[in-house]
Amino acid sequence: MPHYQLLIGGDFVDTAEHYDVVSPADSEVIATLAKGTVEHVDLAVAAAEKAFKESGWRETPAHVRAEVVAKAADLIMARAAEVSGLASRENGTPIRLAAGLSVGFPVMHMQYFAGLARAFVADRPAYVNGSVSSVIRREPIGVVAGIIPWNFALLLAVWKAVPAILAGNSIVLKVDEKTPSTAFVLAEVLTECGLPPGVLNIITGDGETVGGYLTAHPRVRKISFTGSTATGRTVMRNAAANVKQVTLELGGKGANIVLADADLELAVDGTLWGFLMHAGQACESGTRLFVHDSIYAQFIERLVNRAAELTVGDPANAATDVGPVMNAAQKARIESFIDSAVAEGAKLEYQGKVSETAHEKGHFVPPTIFTNVTPEMRVTVNEVFGPVLAVMRFNDVDAVVDEANNSEFGLSAGVWTRDLATANDIAGRLESGTVWINDWHALPGPLPFGGYKQSGFGREMGPNAILAYTNEKVISVDHSGRSARAAWGLVLP
Ligand code: NAD
Repeated sequence: MPHYQLLIGGDFVDTAEHYDVVSPADSEVIATLAKGTVEHVDLAVAAAEKAFKESGWRETPAHVRAEVVAKAADLIMARAAEVSGLASRENGTPIRLAAGLSVGFPVMHMQYFAGLARAFVADRPAYVNGSVSSVIRREPIGVVAGIIPWNFALLLAVWKAVPAILAGNSIVLKVDEKTPSTAFVLAEVLTECGLPPGVLNIITGDGETVGGYLTAHPRVRKISFTGSTATGRTVMRNAAANVKQVTLELGGKGANIVLADADLELAVDGTLWGFLMHAGQACESGTRLFVHDSIYAQFIERLVNRAAELTVGDPANAATDVGPVMNAAQKARIESFIDSAVAEGAKLEYQGKVSETAHEKGHFVPPTIFTNVTPEMRVTVNEVFGPVLAVMRFNDVDAVVDEANNSEFGLSAGVWTRDLATANDIAGRLESGTVWINDWHALPGPLPFGGYKQSGFGREMGPNAILAYTNEKVISVDHSGRSARAAWGLVLP
């Protein structure tokens, strides 16, 4: 059984206490993992700072850094079967989807980031006025802290670590103790391709103590955090201690609007994909569905019939569409939302079945669809982070836009219609970082991803991904040697 140790300054470091890494599909212990403490945070931050100052990485030309990342991406691709197997076993992604979600996306995004770094220009001439000329320089920030959850472990490790190191920073990445393996693969291939020791450090540990200590650490200059909105607030407070820069990718409650003229088959499939991909454990899931009155009955009938065709069960089975949720706590949390929806008067329109072949110790929640839902219900307001859909109906576009925006979250939204002009108009009015029209979950590298409102701020991916890990510096030259004296002349008689 593998035992993962912390990675600090290029060395593997074991700890006094260990975690068990447990598969959500059958509750088997599949690995053990070192459990870091605040002392390990200090060591990792010191190693990152040393690498930032002494390793030469930040002076390495950006296109050379890009080659390290691009080659590392190829090495992950060459290990696709192994890496998707690790991810599926650790977080329950159905194996049929794991190749794309756990390998394809991270590799594509690494390649995209490498492309950005190839085109990266640190100094841009900015201003020329008489004898004064200036450049705007982009410099790395220093030691960055990346903190990620368990739902897409490699993808999120890539989103944090890769743009940070491509900009010349060093990073301390705190991975989630439930899904550690793939971040170590990332570190391994980057090291193999020439990343100096200490530029990428990996730690684990209790979120509140170790994560809290890391986010308050005076030597850390930037935090990139992905996780729940509640934790995001704490991170932001901690960051204030030494005025760190912060990127927050938080929760979501995606509004999914089906207009009267939608292609129903497409919208049904897209709605199911929107709320069931990875058993609904995706921040950008579409979990509030608004269906136009005129198609409501037939849409719900089709949705339920199609949902009934999905296989819920063992993620290792190639026929499985929906796997387990992360653990017993996650399952209990989701079930409490299901219970509260029933208690508050929602109609349990559909609840799927777990396949008989699924392991009895797996943490399965079947797809669950509620109708007769109202905007105030717990299931409508909160991020459930599970395979649960809250359905409402509408007959007025203005009203549905208002209701879609009636949420503290603003990460994703979608519109299904054949009328692209209307769709575009609605998209413009939705308070959401991403709006899909006739699609869901599409997140290619060139498109910035991030939230409005309490879904966070800052963007990952997209053309500014690397710039988010830089400081801007102005270097201004007076070629005449007279400007300063002349300036005194302006204010003194
Ligand atoms: P979480 O906030 O509980 O934990 C996320 C990470 O933060 C973990 O590594 C955890 O150990 C750490 N952490 C916990 N307390 C901390 C603290 N006080 N200080 C610093 N770090 C701390 O989130 P979770 O339940 O593990 O993950 C699910 C959440 O993540 C959902 O809300 C989901 O929407 C969100 N998410 C957002 C995105 C996005 O891009 N917007 C992507 C994936 C997941």
